[in-house]
Formats: sequence, C-alpha cells, structure tokens
Amino acid sequence: MTGGAGFIGSHLVDHLVDAGHDVIVLDNFSTGKIGNLSHSRGRPNFELAKADIRRIPRSVVKRLKKVDRVCHLAAVTSVQKSVMDPVSTTEVNVTGTLNVLEAAKALKAERVVFSSSAAVYGTPRAYPISETASISPISPYGASKAASELYLGSFEENHGIETLSLRFFNVYGPRQAASQYSGVISIFTRKALQQKPLQIYGDGSQTRDFIYVSDVVDATVAALERNPQSRVFNIASGREITILELAKTIQKIIQTQSELVLYPPRSGDVARSLADVTKARNELGFTAGTPMEDGLSTTIQWFGRVFSKRAHHVKN
Ligand code: NAD
Repeated sequence: MTGGAGFIGSHLVDHLVDAGHDVIVLDNFSTGKIGNLSHSRGRPNFELAKADIRRIPRSVVKRLKKVDRVCHLAAVTSVQKSVMDPVSTTEVNVTGTLNVLEAAKALKAERVVFSSSAAVYGTPRAYPISETASISPISPYGASKAASELYLGSFEENHGIETLSLRFFNVYGPRQAASQYSGVISIFTRKALQQKPLQIYGDGSQTRDFIYVSDVVDATVAALERNPQSRVFNIASGREITILELAKTIQKIIQTQSELVLYPPRSGDVARSLADVTKARNELGFTAGTPMEDGLSTTIQWFGRVFSKRAHHVKN
C-alpha cells in the first residue's frame, strides 16, 4: 500500500493487518506520521518501506518479489497546494502513479485499487453526481486524479492488471490533519475545541457529501475483494449537509458557543456536492453505514484527546 502512514491509509492498514493480511506500506512521510501506524507496527504481518513514489527504489521492488493487490493512496492531497505548485503535484500524483503501476506490473499484482477523488468532476451540472458525469476538473489536483484514472485504464488494457478507481468524496475521521489544507471537519473541530471562531466561506449554504473514514475502509476492502464489472466508483454517503449545519452540529457536540464568522466565498469552491452511490451499492455491496452524528462524535473525541495531550506536553 502506498500512503499507508496517512489519514485514510493508516485506518486501512489497521483493518487489513487485523484481518491477517500481509501488508507492506510504502510512504515518504511527507504528510503521513509514524504515530498513525502505532497499532500495526511490530505486528508480524506488517512491513514498512520509507520510499518516495516519484522514485521507487529498485531494491524495494526486488525484495518484495510478488504482491497480490496494490492500494495506491499516496498523493499530494491539497487542492490549494496543487494550484500553487501544479508541477510538484503532477510529479507525485501522475508520475508517481505511473511508477506505482510499473512496480505493480513488476510485482505481478493482479489488481490496483486507486484513491481517486470527486475533484475529477469539477463543477457538476446535475445532482446527484453519477460516475457517468463529465470529467472536467477545475484544479491541478483534480486533473492529476483524472489523468491517473486514464493511466490505470491503459495498464489494464496493455498489461492485464485489474484497476479500480474509487472517487472518494469528503472523508473525515480521527487522524485527519487539522492544518489549513485539511478537510473542513478537522479544521472546525480544532477551532471549536480551542474556543476560536469558525470561518465559513460564503453564506454556509454550500453542501458537501461527507463519509466517515471507516466506511471508506469498508469500500476499499470491497474493491480489493469483489469482482465488479465497472472500474470507477463514487465512494460517499449519498447524503448532503450544508457547511452551516455542519458547524452548528460540531458546536452542539462540543457544547461551545464559538463564533461563526462569514468570509467572502472562495474561488473554486463548488456550491453543492452529492454523490449517486447506486453503483457502489450494486456492484461492491457497499453502503456507508456510519451516521454523521456518530462519526463526528468519535472524531471530536479523538481530536480532544490529541489536543489535551499536547497541552499537557507544553505545560510539563
Ligand atoms: P494524507 O495526506 O493523510 O495521506 C497521503 C499519504 O501519502 C501520506 O502518508 C504521505 O506521507 C504519503 N505521500 C505523499 N507523497 C508521497 C510520495 N511522493 N511518496 C510516498 N508517499 C507519499 O491524505 P488522505 O486524506 O489520507 O488521502 C489519501 C488518498 O485519498 C489520497 O490519494 C487523496 O488524494 C485521496 N482522497 C482523499 C480525500 C479526503 O477527503 N481525505 C478525498 C478524496 C480523495
């Protein structure tokens, strides 16, 4: 698995290691953290290779000899970063994907499951967004995911490796980074726990389709194990919530009155996001089962523990 030290990857690692699979993680720790792997490190069926997908060392491929399945999650994941530095994003997200596909071929992998993104759709014309909607990304990040999907198709055609692209919508949960480049839930949670104002761009009526990280793990496991006809799937809850509603729900769970401050809308922010999840349900047998309030409560508890540990370190 590439990107296994990251937010989503580390949850997937824990699940696969617990299920008894042999898991090898390749990560350069650019955003991933060794602490994310503390559940799995030291287990006999877990191995870690610190390496960069822009230049996968031959020694790593030689040592592994054979793998059955590849989950490719490593990427520059920030849309803003991709706008500021499209060349670096392309090196990691497109050339890196090609290197992973080449390694998968050399290792005689039967299947590659790729973490794509709803960003491939850009500004959709109709809702809910189905996999047949046109691909018109508006960021280098979205373009890099769309290009990678095309390369996956070409490897399937030319080298017989099965390739599946999972278009994740907005994923949230424990271990998500809380930096300015992260998902809105981790940012709101951090601010609300610190009693700081929550910044909303626009009037807050824009919607997102959030999915809890353990549901994304279930979807990925289904993509590793099942034999679907299609090659591309939306992975989402199929429910939308406004950003204003989200901010108020987080405030309610945390029991804070932290201020909501409205800023001018950000360019590139879509007004609505809602996935059609019929295909994943029919072909992968996958439905996101975690109610938003439950996922949010677990996430908030986790962030609360992290911040109180940090505060304790600073004090001592
Ligand atoms: P993350 O930043 O936590 O994880 C990415 C991992 O990739 C990190 O461990 C990082 O160190 C590693 N990595 C980055 N560049 C690398 C390189 N050059 N070589 C080796 N490793 C490298 O992000 P995440 O949220 O866990 O995202 C995982 C995947 O899911 C990404 O491909 C992302 O584009 C996709 N995705 C995420 C979301 C979301 O809401 N989080 C939505 C859509 C798609």
